[in-house]
Amino acid sequence: MDFDWTPEQRALRVEAARVAAEGVRKYGRFNDCWMNGYSKEFSRELAAHGYLGMAWPKEFGGGNRPAIDRVIVAEEMIKAGAPIAASWFGDRQMGPALIQYGTKAQQDEFLPRILSGETTWCIGMSEPNSGSDLASLKTSARDDGDEWVINGQKIWTSFGADADYCYLICRTSHDGPPHAGISEIIVPMDTPGIEIRRITDMTTNQHFCEVFFTDARVPKSNLVGQQGGAFGQTMRQLEHERGGIDRLMSNYALYSYARSKADTCNPVIRQEIADLEIGYFVGRVLVMREVMRQAPAGFSAATKCFCTEHEQKVAQFASRVLGAEMMVQGDYTKDFLYGPGYTIMGGTSNVMRNILGERVLGLAKG
Ligand SMILES: Cc1cc2nc3c(=O)[nH]c(=O)nc-3n(C[C@H](O)[C@H](O)[C@H](O)COP(=O)(O)OP(=O)(O)OC[C@H]3O[C@@H](n4cnc5c(N)ncnc54)[C@H](O)[C@@H]3O)c2cc1C
Repeated sequence: MDFDWTPEQRALRVEAARVAAEGVRKYGRFNDCWMNGYSKEFSRELAAHGYLGMAWPKEFGGGNRPAIDRVIVAEEMIKAGAPIAASWFGDRQMGPALIQYGTKAQQDEFLPRILSGETTWCIGMSEPNSGSDLASLKTSARDDGDEWVINGQKIWTSFGADADYCYLICRTSHDGPPHAGISEIIVPMDTPGIEIRRITDMTTNQHFCEVFFTDARVPKSNLVGQQGGAFGQTMRQLEHERGGIDRLMSNYALYSYARSKADTCNPVIRQEIADLEIGYFVGRVLVMREVMRQAPAGFSAATKCFCTEHEQKVAQFASRVLGAEMMVQGDYTKDFLYGPGYTIMGGTSNVMRNILGERVLGLAKG
């Protein structure tokens, strides 16, 4: 078996690194750029390079390339801190979800504008009293003739204030067990009845939002997949979200900077760097397994746990190496402050361990 990159993959990496560096030069370097680096201009440039929908099938306008190519491009973008957030959710999650569950009309309407980098999406999942336990969500969509009437509140909605569309997870029925009766609906963010409030996080970034729905009406045809059957669909989508390279590389720029400043004559520091390099290597193997669909079902929970806990170790290493420099509110301080969020977003480590124990290892429920 040859684990090395092919010449084509090496060339793709070099070209992606060039595009990423150019993006940083033009639009700036962003901490956790897949979440914070918002630039629609750069989205259009990514589209022009064929870097959006790279692995989607041809019939949906995608590049039909091996999924590994997308990982290479994403890794270079995130390492450089290039502003990929405006296209990220659509490319990573909403596009694949619409390909799998959307109607032909939805695919025709929404996929081309994700591919061209024109539209930004946000994900309306979490609520003030419903995060880990998604099945307890209360935001509702009432069936009213040709429309859904939406009421409720979402929170922690990244890009709620910038997005064109929300991929909303909501309740369309109260019958049966809690996980039944949940549906996914596409909601244009300019729909009357939507109020958005930005939340400032501790790094001073404002991608988070609270989104309030009061009798917001959207066409019936915006339902994605099976009415009341979205719990399974959402879990499938979260697999895309949890097993990706973004979960490993978010603060790689911080690591590179701290490493460049580290006293490598110090044996303790050298050990730490060796440990982190091992972490990057193992994490990359786990991600590749997910991407190549070689991991067991549900294993993305373990991949997410390992990779995001590694990112937290990176943040701790940087704080020790940079010392006082890290306490001055600057670019790398923001990178450091994102540390705690890694093991929360996309499902907490505790919940990932529950999934691993119960669904993958078949252990008894605690
Ligand atoms: C940077 C960032 C970006 C985000 N972006 C989005 C977004 O775009 N859209 C969106 O919808 N949401 C988003 N979120 C929200 C995120 O999905 C939730 O924060 C997460 O699911 C946890 O939910 P919660 O905050 O309500 O915590 P809770 O579910 O209330 O959990 C609180 C604590 O209890 C623990 N816990 C809960 N249940 C169990 C259990 N069964 N067993 C063991 N321990 C348990 C958790 O591990 C945690 O430590 C984002 C979060 C972050 C940090």
